[in-house]
Amino acid sequence: MATDRLAILTYHSVDDSGSVVSTSPALFVKQMAVLAELGLRGISLAEAVRYRKREGAWPKNVVVMTFDDGYANVHEHALPALREFEFSATVFVVTGHVGLANDWAPPLERLGLQPLMTWSQIDDLVKAGLEIGAHTVTHPDLRRLDEQAVKREIADSRQSLEDKLQHRISTFAYPFGWHTEYARRIVGEAFDAACTTELRRASYESLEALPRLDTYYLQQPDDFRRAVMGKLDRYLAIRRWGRSVRAVFREK
Ligand SMILES: [Zn+2]
Repeated sequence: MATDRLAILTYHSVDDSGSVVSTSPALFVKQMAVLAELGLRGISLAEAVRYRKREGAWPKNVVVMTFDDGYANVHEHALPALREFEFSATVFVVTGHVGLANDWAPPLERLGLQPLMTWSQIDDLVKAGLEIGAHTVTHPDLRRLDEQAVKREIADSRQSLEDKLQHRISTFAYPFGWHTEYARRIVGEAFDAACTTELRRASYESLEALPRLDTYYLQQPDDFRRAVMGKLDRYLAIRRWGRSVRAVFREK
């Protein structure tokens, strides 16, 4: 059964710091329970995209959870919850920082420096049926790089994931959500789909720039429930407008 809207959720860090990129482990478990209660299944972005390519629309009764950056706490807290509910998800890894930290930008308030997953932890995710996607090598703002460097960031991140994991990597997320026409073209040649941080449910837009729902805005259980059911689309349009004038979110 197909539908014309898909909720692709954005998570970053699963921790108790309360930062703008954090979801607490307890809240994450609650959100998984809400999805299960609604009869929704968590699938990977690759699976959703395969379906859309085949059927021309999105699969019904599913959500896609994405985790940007590859924080070690995703392995620690999100993986057990995803397993419990038998959900898949997609984790976008910054390949030059595997086993290191999120030190590509000044530390975010409250979050600070956080360890990122090692290759062996990434392997655990793969074994649990999660999808690994690419999120560049060094997490740059792609708008500020020359074409050569953009190409390298995109191609090299995919290559090292494929070398390490020994399977095809088909999805990508733009660091900070920022992209250019050139970046979208290169990404389109290398991957089947890519995510931005544009705040809405996905519809029939180009697979190179899929919008997502940032769970930062959905911390109230009722908002979360309504957002994945598509009952918050108007509210999110207002948040989108509000967000465009608030620089803090550009740091994600
Ligand atoms: Zn990121």
